[in-house]
Parts: sequence; C-alpha cells; structure tokens
Amino acid sequence: MLVNLDSVLKKARAGRYAVGLFNTHDTDMLEAAMCAAEEARSPIIIGTAEILLPYGDLPLLAPAFIAAARRASVPVVVHYDHGLTFEKTMEALKLGFSSVMYDASAKPYADNVAETAEVVKIAHAFGATVEGEIGHVGSAPEGDDRNGRYTTVGEAVDFQTKTGVDALAVAVGNAHGVYKAKPNLQLDRIAELGAAVAAPLVLHGGSGLSDDDFRNAIARGIAKLNIHTDMVLAGMRAMREQCAAHDAGKPDTWDYLDTRKAKVEAIKKVILEKMELFGSVGRADRA
Ligand SMILES: [Zn+2]
Repeated sequence: MLVNLDSVLKKARAGRYAVGLFNTHDTDMLEAAMCAAEEARSPIIIGTAEILLPYGDLPLLAPAFIAAARRASVPVVVHYDHGLTFEKTMEALKLGFSSVMYDASAKPYADNVAETAEVVKIAHAFGATVEGEIGHVGSAPEGDDRNGRYTTVGEAVDFQTKTGVDALAVAVGNAHGVYKAKPNLQLDRIAELGAAVAAPLVLHGGSGLSDDDFRNAIARGIAKLNIHTDMVLAGMRAMREQCAAHDAGKPDTWDYLDTRKAKVEAIKKVILEKMELFGSVGRADRA
C-alpha cells in the first residue's frame, strides 16, 4: 500500500526501530527493494534523488514506483530524496510521490526555513509528507565538525516548529558516500535531538556505519535511515563476479540476463540485512 512518512515513522519512533530508505533509481533496484520488503514483512521507503535523475528519468520511474507501492501488501513510501530545486520537488509531488525531502541545508538558515515551509504547505495539500535538513550532511570524509555544520538542538527545534516538517535529517558525524575515515557518530547529540524535536529524526549516509552505530542511533531516536552506496557496491560486485565467471560457450544474451539477476539478488540481500538490523522486520503486520 502507498503511504506517506507519517504512517511509518511515528510507529517506528514509538517502537524504537527504524525504517530504511533504500534508493531505487532503476526498476532492477525497485524489484530488489519490493521483494525484500514483502519477504521481511517490513515497511519500506523507496524512491530516487534529484542528483540521480540523470541516471533514471523521473516521469518514467514514478509510475513504476507508485504501481509497485499500490500492489504491495506492506506499507511503502514513495519518497523524493534530496530535492534541491523547487521545480523538481513539485514535479515529484505532481507525479504522485507520497513524500519529498526538500534540502536547502547548504543555504543560509533563514532561506532554508522559508523555502522548506513553502514546500511543506504545498506537499501537505497533496497529502504528502516532507523531510527537511538542518545542519549539513556533506560528503565523506567528515570526521569532525570543522565547518560548524553539525545540527544543534536549538536550531533543530526552531526549524521544525517554523517549517512543520514531518521528518528531520540531522548532521551528527554522518556523511554521504564511502567513508574514508571511521565515522564518529555524535550519540549524545542524537539523544538530545531525539528528546527535543517533535518530528522523527533521519540519518543519511548509512552505508559504512557499523551495526553498533545503527543500534545506538536508533535507540536514541533515529527513525529513518538512508541506504544507497551499500546497495550499489553489492550490485557492482555481483556483476563483476558474474562477468568473471563468463562461460565462453554461453550466448551473451543469457549472460546479460544472469548478470542482471545476480545484481538484483545481491541488492535484495543487502536490504534484507539492513531491515533485520533496523528492527523493521515483521512490523508491517503490527498495529
Ligand atoms: Zn542524503
């Protein structure tokens, strides 16, 4: 069933587990994600990000995401990750996404508040939810707060109150992509934010965090975790292995199909492992 962030994250926060956003920027990743969610009886968040649009056309993918969500027997949020422009974020809403992230975190604070509040007003009229970001989650490596971009409790509360966002992404020592140095999650900061902010918290840059990092972050109030890099790396490894095992007697057409299948299986396996770790397995069937 197609749902928005509210209907999965409130339960997750109350139950001290997290729901994963598993980025799906093609229908192979979509297939892996939906199979994993059904098998694990887990709620799931799928969707693509603005930066990934050159690799997967939004008007082409959106109907596939929405059809997959509608026919699923588990709750599925179709989420537009890291909307960077007002126009594309509106396009996602018009195409039927049930949730969007509007990320103006690189802009001055006042602009982030004003622009996010505008998106919230419109998205809510669509019945969609909005994730905002305060502080700034950059690219790895970011082992410290040298740029002063960690999320502070005061700003987070002020931002959530002024914008009305339904979920809030925080910068707490996490980073996007492959971590070059061991990440140093600010657990005390997560706990303080979790206690003070009305909206569920989101942790981006989940690929590369340890199992303990995830458990500790969830215990302190993180209700949504974003995974992308780990899925892509597993898919790439599976394709390389399949190509290396190429049987000279086998036609390339079948090799292509087997390679694709191996990729989908590998991505599905990563998603299932993360769902287990996040505690979302079996939650689709609980009130
Ligand atoms: Zn992100």
